[in-house]
Amino acid sequence: MVCTKVLLAEPRGFCAGVEKAIKALGWMVKVFEPPVYCFHEIVHNKVVVERFAAKGVIFVDSVDEVPPGAVVMLSAHGSSPEVVEASSQANRISVNAVCPLVTKVHHEVKVRSKKGYEIIYVGHIGHDEAIGTVAEAPEHVHLVETEEQLEQLPDFSTDQEVALLAQTTLSMDEWADIRDRALEHYPNLWMPNRSDLCFATTNRQGALKQIAHLADSIVVIGSANSSNTVALEKVARAAGCKSVFRINSVAELPPNLDGVVGVTAGASAPDELVEQVLDKLAPTDGIEVISHVDEDEYFPPPPELRELMKAIEDLTMIAFALPRSGESVLEDDRSISASLVLSHLN
Ligand code: SF4
Repeated sequence: MVCTKVLLAEPRGFCAGVEKAIKALGWMVKVFEPPVYCFHEIVHNKVVVERFAAKGVIFVDSVDEVPPGAVVMLSAHGSSPEVVEASSQANRISVNAVCPLVTKVHHEVKVRSKKGYEIIYVGHIGHDEAIGTVAEAPEHVHLVETEEQLEQLPDFSTDQEVALLAQTTLSMDEWADIRDRALEHYPNLWMPNRSDLCFATTNRQGALKQIAHLADSIVVIGSANSSNTVALEKVARAAGCKSVFRINSVAELPPNLDGVVGVTAGASAPDELVEQVLDKLAPTDGIEVISHVDEDEYFPPPPELRELMKAIEDLTMIAFALPRSGESVLEDDRSISASLVLSHLN
């Protein structure tokens, strides 16, 4: 039994939001003495979290665990308004690495709830992103995960305006059936012009669909608590592939994969894990990259980090009586990849 060929989905792995969060935490680790605290896993990937933990980052599930005056980063998944507020209390230095696409959904919740809407939010119960988003207006947001839960919502009065929003990392299949059912129930349902499903999630699923029916097996690299990774698993199965494996790392790669193997990675899975899997599979007829779409989105560093870095640079220039070059070290951020940052943490 031997792997003859690998079909490698493109795009796969790190998205712009994850790139932003990892690079921001990388800067924090470089600039501040340990420990740097991080509220929730910076991104949902075991390898990434362990790499930062080895550098002295302490991951916490409550801001109360962050001592006064300490440095804390808030994860890419978004945090509740209470957490954002508390994180900068008691002289803490707080940097919010939330993905802008998650912020957009928080904003939609705030605006619609203020306008008197009841909001149906399709998301995964217990997921960090869903928790943070619901917390924007808990009394007006109804979190549903299934069509059955949608059916069980209280009857809104006939003149009640209703909006439908979603967790960014759902699969199109998870979202579409509930959206259609909601439209049947609430004909005047308000939805954003473009669904909240993010480009990175949709692109990775589109790429996987292109290879799923051509492969004997599909390997999805990423962690079980990564919503978009689990969505990829479901997409591969829905496309008819009978042999789908989600693995954290090459150590979990089944030894007996033969024929054509499709490979992809969730948006928080580092490229180094993909490389290790490809090396292990060692396809006899090589690797074919199947490209679905070019992805060149870039999200700049969090504004608090930009302010901090500027202040530090200014102080350094003053302390050493150096002339200011005018360029911040963060000007180069776009040209530095999160994979490079991770490799430097080793
Ligand atoms: S998967 Fe989408 S929403 Fe999540 S961090 Fe990446 S770009 Fe942002």
